[in-house]
Amino acid sequence: MNKLAKSFVFILLIFLSLSLIFSAMSGLVITPEKISLSEAIQVLKEEQPMEVVLYPNKFEIVLNEEKTFVAEREPNVSFSETLQNFGFLPEEISALNIEVKGESSLTFFLSVILPILLPVIILGVLLFYSFRRANQGAMQIFSFSRSNIRLFAPSKDGITFKDVAGLKEAKEELKEVVEFLKTPKKFYDLGAKIPRGVLLMGPPGSGKTLLARAVAGEARVPFFHISGSEFVEMFVGVGASRVRDTFATAKKSAPSILFIDEIDAIGRIRGAGVGGGHDEREQTLNQILVEMDGFDRDTKIIVIAATNRPDVLDPALLRPGRFDRRVILDMPSINDREEILKIHSRGKTLDPVVDLREIAERTPGFSGADLANLVNEAAILAARRNKKNISQQELLDSIEKVILGPERKSRLLTKKEKEITAYHEAGHALITALLPGTALVRKISIIARGRAAGYTMRMPTEEKYMKTHSEFLDDLCALLGGYVAEEIKFKDVSTGAANDLKEATDIARSLVTKYGMSKKLGPISFDETEELIFLGREIATEKNYSEETAAKIDKEVFDIVNKCYQKTKKLLQKNINKLELVTQELIKKETLEKEEFEELIK
Ligand code: ADP
Ligand code: MG
Ligand code: ZN
Repeated sequence: MNKLAKSFVFILLIFLSLSLIFSAMSGLVITPEKISLSEAIQVLKEEQPMEVVLYPNKFEIVLNEEKTFVAEREPNVSFSETLQNFGFLPEEISALNIEVKGESSLTFFLSVILPILLPVIILGVLLFYSFRRANQGAMQIFSFSRSNIRLFAPSKDGITFKDVAGLKEAKEELKEVVEFLKTPKKFYDLGAKIPRGVLLMGPPGSGKTLLARAVAGEARVPFFHISGSEFVEMFVGVGASRVRDTFATAKKSAPSILFIDEIDAIGRIRGAGVGGGHDEREQTLNQILVEMDGFDRDTKIIVIAATNRPDVLDPALLRPGRFDRRVILDMPSINDREEILKIHSRGKTLDPVVDLREIAERTPGFSGADLANLVNEAAILAARRNKKNISQQELLDSIEKVILGPERKSRLLTKKEKEITAYHEAGHALITALLPGTALVRKISIIARGRAAGYTMRMPTEEKYMKTHSEFLDDLCALLGGYVAEEIKFKDVSTGAANDLKEATDIARSLVTKYGMSKKLGPISFDETEELIFLGREIATEKNYSEETAAKIDKEVFDIVNKCYQKTKKLLQKNINKLELVTQELIKKETLEKEEFEELIK
């Protein structure tokens, strides 16, 4: 609309300037007075004209500077004949200063050419504009096939391995890549084959993107960054041509790094899709494979891809010669967490007595991104509390905020609700403390947070990567502790236990179907499911066992939960005094720290 208005104004301007030119020219030329032929003869006879100008069809009598007459000529008769016919003598005729002119070029232009030319010009201008507009649209369609690959100049980014905490093995693997990009000759001379693709695998927030950028920073080579989802568009065939374009761009500035983030968006197992759309993904993926196979020995490009779903990746991607280097990024261990906290508290004013180790101890299961978020939350909290620096308290408070969402002080529990919540949480805490399992009570609170009315923070005593059957059972009992405590005290249960029960049931089911920890069903995994993927979600799982077995599984799950329930009930009944003690203290203080709680139950 705007453009239309613009071109309209433009055309109007052309008209205006044309008419201006016309009027200017007509002003320059003295308009001659029109007279008849006989009058003209009269003038010629009586006056002494300066000049007579002959045109093909007319003649002008220039009398003096100001006065000019114009008259029609007789057709098909020469001017001198006309004069002779009117009785002019030959001497009189030769005395006249006669000048012969063709059609004046200006008048010819104005009268003959312009009327034809003007519409043509206007039409041309209009066509030009509309073509250009259409062309722009067309160009947009063409540029779909170009990738919006981003280039990070290594110096600008400035992220190096220094900025990545932990991830030792991953860094070690990637150092090789860096070295190759820096001195490829060293490797070629020994006949070493260079990896073409490195796949970074790790849960969300574990630092995959960060690490890839650090590699580029270390190697100081061009770093091309594109996300897997950017290959996929609404037009079929676009993805593949984008891949071609991406690789071509990266090749032009080799040695370079091509980073494909979230490759699972295109690299899913082929043929797993339902309905349309996956065809396009397949083609895109195929093109990536083709491009990577097309690397010759001298192609100095290393493709780094990142995913948090290695399980859904197409096996063809993982074949040698493609992403044959696989680097696993683990969740940070306690030492790594301390490191990450240190990195992210750079440039923030921390209280000098802050103990980051304690924060690291309290944050098992936090990813790098969670920790970065935690430090930031603490800074915001400190600012809101008008403090000069971030103290331990803000960091501790932020842990809970990151896990559970903000405190909801405004949500007031009724006296009865508060009592129920206190018993419930005390039940969780007491069972956790009484069973030898792996967890410790860090904190109990009946202040509402996020969607939970209260919570018991249980933390593993040490970093563990495996869990035994009995530890699972202890966890299950601790989960039931809240429900059982309510039941014992009030002979009634509330909806507050719904989440606990779901989690408990999930654990029991996993014990049976996943880990083979049920005596009755034996060491068999019943977990194999055919995934049907639709829009990236599982819509159906298929059992690979009979209905009979399904019934057995259900029975076994029920038995496990029930056994734990009985055990928990017995335990709490035996320790009813401690339960009362903890509950009353909770109602009074609302929050109990680890030390206070341990003192109470001694
Ligand atoms: P991913 O790509 O694995 O989902 P990112 O690389 O985007 O995760 O990490 C998100 C943020 O978390 C990073 O920008 C960084 O601030 C922080 N982070 C994650 N891991 C680390 C780490 N090992 N060291 C320092 N910071 C980290
Ligand atoms: Mg990422
Ligand atoms: Zn609970």
